[in-house]
Amino acid sequence: MAPADTATTLICNGSLIDGTGAPPRDADVLIRGSRIEAVGPDLLASLPETDGVHVVDAAGCTVLPGLIDAHCHITFDQPSSNDELFFHRRHGLATLVASVNARKVLRAGFTSFFDADGVFEAGVDLRDAIEGGVVEGPRMTTGGNVLINCVGGTAARLLPDSGTRGYARIVHTPGEIVTEIHKQVKQGVDWIKVHVSGQPIRPAPGSSSGEIQPWSYDELKLVCDTAHQLGIPVVGHCRNASSTRDAALAGFDMILHATYMDDAALQAVIDHKVPLVPTFTFQANLADYGEAIGSEQRLRDMFRAEITDSTDALRQAYDAGVPLLTGSDSGFSLPPYGDWHYREREVYVEYLGVSPLEAIRCATSEGAVALRRPGELGCLAPGYLADVLVFQGDPLEDIRVLGDKNRFQHIIKNGQFVDLEADIPTQWDLPGWRVGEFSSQVLTRDLVRSMGGELP
Ligand SMILES: [Zn+2]
Repeated sequence: MAPADTATTLICNGSLIDGTGAPPRDADVLIRGSRIEAVGPDLLASLPETDGVHVVDAAGCTVLPGLIDAHCHITFDQPSSNDELFFHRRHGLATLVASVNARKVLRAGFTSFFDADGVFEAGVDLRDAIEGGVVEGPRMTTGGNVLINCVGGTAARLLPDSGTRGYARIVHTPGEIVTEIHKQVKQGVDWIKVHVSGQPIRPAPGSSSGEIQPWSYDELKLVCDTAHQLGIPVVGHCRNASSTRDAALAGFDMILHATYMDDAALQAVIDHKVPLVPTFTFQANLADYGEAIGSEQRLRDMFRAEITDSTDALRQAYDAGVPLLTGSDSGFSLPPYGDWHYREREVYVEYLGVSPLEAIRCATSEGAVALRRPGELGCLAPGYLADVLVFQGDPLEDIRVLGDKNRFQHIIKNGQFVDLEADIPTQWDLPGWRVGEFSSQVLTRDLVRSMGGELP
């Protein structure tokens, strides 16, 4: 293989979706080194020298920018419970396992992702290993531990009152907030993440939809001022109206979920044009396929309602020019790595009523914000980074085909072809890694009798 800075590739005869939302057109893509040099018709004829040019015939294929998952957790390794996530991960091993899982994301056509928060400093280490060519994976930006206070998050009483547990760093006072941001910036994070809302331990009678907001506006403003002074953007997990509103007003640079918005939250998001990553894949998977994994009906109904209760406001935000990015929350047992990254586009088309072409734009040029490279990533245009997919089929006819990994003829990241034949381990047996259950049922005497057992 020629060195990355000189290799030249020409992709011709494909139907080009450039990622801007423009309709498909017949155009070739010329890649030199890690960048796109030219996009247009009949580029082969325009080349003064064709020796050494790797020509890819994309006849019958769609050529599109590498997809961007703006909400992943690469270091979690698909836990099926908070117990497993918070108590069964080890620093070095989490990083090693993440380096394998990253390859699954890449093989699904996602050449970039944003890791919102991770266990230990594994995200920073993995990002640097990928950038440095030590391991293969999508380009990546990463947060560190999420800033949370002890009533925040999704882990209820599993969180201690202070310190670090799993991916969470518990902070309460302004001093703790500032110190933690300084430490994470020194570590090399790309984003600071805050769990602005969390599940109530004991919901108040008649309380409104979604989670509670354990952070005050002033605390959120302090986070933004501290991080922004150091040139680092801030992202929030906001799963109710007030947390979304206050995060937008405080200066957050991106909001994950943004569900259950009321008028005030919607107005704040529109006024500040805060990019949103609704991340409905988790809910849609649980609602549609939860039965297969034994999820209760009540839980499945609750997650579907989070989608349907939130789509009107999100659609209004989108129509008002708020960037919508697509994220999958991959890293839990649902959704696992490599399988469902595409599905957010399907949910956008089905629930938000955007066209497949718009859904692809959300996953490409809009997604570049999460990678902190807008104007440089997510489009097939001269000067852009050469993340390119050659895909057998037409995702505009049926957006779900993007989930069929066998259709990827080529996945190119940074001008380099990904080896689609190399084996990736799919499962592993690591001591103490998964939560071991004694049983799935309680062994009562009645149970034994019901199975025909003889008991006195
Ligand atoms: Zn998440």
